[in-house]
Amino acid sequence: MKKNKKKKKNRKKRKSNKKLKVDCISTDRQGKGIIKINKKKVSVPNLIEGEKALVEVRKKRNYTTARVKNIEKKSKDRIVPKCPHFHQCGGCHLQHMKYEAQAKFKEKIVKELLGKYGKINEIITMDKPYDYRNKIHSTLSRGKGGEIVSGIYQQYSHKVVAIDRCIIQDPRADRIIKSIRKLMKSFKLRPYDEDSKKGFLRHILVKTGYLSGEIMVALVVSSKIFPSKKKFIKALLKKHPEITTIVMNINNRKTSVVLGKVEKVLYGKGFIEDTLCGCIFQISLKSFYQVNPVQTEKLYNKAIDMAKLDTNDVVLDAYCGIGTISLILSDKVKKVIGVELNQDAVKDAIKNAKRNKIKNVRFYQSDAGKFMVRMANRKEQVDTVFMDPPRSGSTEKFLHSIVKLNPKKVIYISCNPVTQERDLKYLTKHGYKVKEIQPVDMFPHTYHVETVVLIEKK
Ligand code: SAH
Repeated sequence: MKKNKKKKKNRKKRKSNKKLKVDCISTDRQGKGIIKINKKKVSVPNLIEGEKALVEVRKKRNYTTARVKNIEKKSKDRIVPKCPHFHQCGGCHLQHMKYEAQAKFKEKIVKELLGKYGKINEIITMDKPYDYRNKIHSTLSRGKGGEIVSGIYQQYSHKVVAIDRCIIQDPRADRIIKSIRKLMKSFKLRPYDEDSKKGFLRHILVKTGYLSGEIMVALVVSSKIFPSKKKFIKALLKKHPEITTIVMNINNRKTSVVLGKVEKVLYGKGFIEDTLCGCIFQISLKSFYQVNPVQTEKLYNKAIDMAKLDTNDVVLDAYCGIGTISLILSDKVKKVIGVELNQDAVKDAIKNAKRNKIKNVRFYQSDAGKFMVRMANRKEQVDTVFMDPPRSGSTEKFLHSIVKLNPKKVIYISCNPVTQERDLKYLTKHGYKVKEIQPVDMFPHTYHVETVVLIEKK
């Protein structure tokens, strides 16, 4: 009864939602079109600057939202999104724009934020901007008819959008996930239900090697008791002999955090390997690895070129992950010091140095800020710092110790120009200047943009 009343109320509300004809005056940083309603700016998904549209307006208590009902004047940059899930999924933000227009949009964002520090180079785009993601995460749930579905959480909700094929992901992963769903049915394995906290399989993660072709499948389960485990693995491998390792991750927490602490290797070596810029890397389930290997090579080559390294240089690679940048540049310098917070990633980094027979690199597990303070206090000499922090950017402690360490150059790689701008403000106030800014499109069809900035002593 209650539910029905609520439904009726919602329907009434929806009827009263106003429809308006609007002009899209610009684009926000998430690639949404900006319109004005009662002099207030409102961001609308799937709308491009210069377009005219009919939108449906919803007034909430403190804010107003709008969604496109009909585009009345189309932009020349508009295309029909290739993916049928574009409007529900929320994982891609720019599929309604031609790829060239996406690139221009990203250049504009970088210019708005970093333009005050110098000229922005043309963005490095991807030749074939599809199938690029090498790390695929799929959540399991039940569809309306009770069937097992897998896909991603809809933006701002815990509803799973069922997706069989995602055009920015490695297609091999999609096929494997589809097979797992089928096997779940025949093995009577239930998908985990977020509301009742019942069921077994919560998520599937797939990591793929671009050059090696290796594939890791991680099954995130709610309990360590895996019924018919051996038979299930055998059946999966029979269908997909290309899988090189299978890992079980046990997550019995009642939260939306994806991975649990306990991990068990069910098949193979428990990690995959891949080659990047000529070095081989070991990648385990929890360690960070760039998601677009084709563009990562371009990014790293550009960053290393910018640094103009010398064979006598000592380099610090801060936020080094599994040691990719450290190891790739190691043959150009005297010594590299890598620092990283995640213990699994540091373990991988140490193994990677051995695997590639590289002897002039040392890795340390620590908070990068704390580590730099200790280095600065010991007056250690560093010629060039590479830094590649997470989206939240660096910390004042870290930046303060860069100034104290006094390297000639800093190469700052960032996946968030907003926090990079904040950090550049600090460095340029404290004796450094920006020499070059290079955007790279690491995440086609999303609004995300990577930048690499060369900073030198004034
Ligand atoms: N340079 C690497 C990793 C970049 S991602 C690459 O290109 O592959 C950012 C990394 O910073 C992650 O590995 C994350 O674990 C690490 N990290 C996050 N906070 C940190 C901190 N406070 N100190 C050191 N490393 C940190």
